[in-house]
Amino acid sequence: MKNILVLGSLNMDLVTSVQHTPKIGETIFGDKLAFIPGGKGANQAVALGKLGANVEIIGMIGGDEYGEILRKNLNKFNVLNNNILYSKNNTTGIAFIMVNNSGDNSIVVISGANEDFKSDRIKNEWFINKDIVVSQLEIPIETVNEAFSLAKQNGCYTVLNPAPALNLPDSLLRNTDIIIPNETEFEILTGIRYTDNDDIIEGSKILFDKGVKEILVTLGEKGAIYLSKERVIQVNSYMVDAVDTTAAGDSFIAGVVFYISIGKNIEEALEFASKVAAITVSRKGAQTSLASFKEVEKYKG
Ligand code: ADP
Repeated sequence: MKNILVLGSLNMDLVTSVQHTPKIGETIFGDKLAFIPGGKGANQAVALGKLGANVEIIGMIGGDEYGEILRKNLNKFNVLNNNILYSKNNTTGIAFIMVNNSGDNSIVVISGANEDFKSDRIKNEWFINKDIVVSQLEIPIETVNEAFSLAKQNGCYTVLNPAPALNLPDSLLRNTDIIIPNETEFEILTGIRYTDNDDIIEGSKILFDKGVKEILVTLGEKGAIYLSKERVIQVNSYMVDAVDTTAAGDSFIAGVVFYISIGKNIEEALEFASKVAAITVSRKGAQTSLASFKEVEKYKG
């Protein structure tokens, strides 16, 4: 089994339910407060850990209680975290999440320590025994850029989830083996809006020209499309009663990466990831909704 390194964000999500989203100047009461580990980096790492992958996360937290809770949570799901960094100046990242009675979210993210994870903290030794490196854009983009450059020098396969969508430096795209955006991120990256598969093929040319080797666009309930220079593979999603689509993308990415890490081919990985994501969207929460390998094996759709 290959070794996976996730470089990314770790947040403590403070979640409450409200009757309605407050207007400017309005004060309302929330329901009880839930403390839920989050951040895209941690979500993807925990999703991989739950599937049984050999996975390590490196990110930055504060020397506070939330940081310790996040580390305990990583241990619980067998995500190695002994190289996690501590910020001297900032507290652990936090997301305030308010869910109203129609199920709509309002979120304020305070990046905190995640923003302090600067590129000069990256160490070559992190990549030496790794085969696959996964990152997102909730840590500084210069850090991801530097990490992918070292990852490629060390012969790793690099996986970029460009979320939240930002303009990417050419060097980062050149060092990306597979980019996995959702349709909104794909539009921001390429300027092409998805209406049918031809749009994805058209937009992908822009990314291939910049040096990306493979592209996998997730399309929510419409499934996903994989493209390399040689072929296009479309995969449907499973028909499920979607309860909460939070972490759909994170779990899908983990499914693909896990299957690649155990030597499966891309068709098998896409099929497996669709099951992982279908289970996730049929349950509430982010990390709480992620699937174990046994659950995916049993899943019939
Ligand atoms: P993101 O969470 O990053 O926006 P998507 O919404 O594109 O990601 O979803 C990622 C994957 O999750 C999809 O490719 C699909 O396999 C699965 N998925 C998402 N929404 C649904 C849904 N309503 N029903 C079944 N599968 C879904």
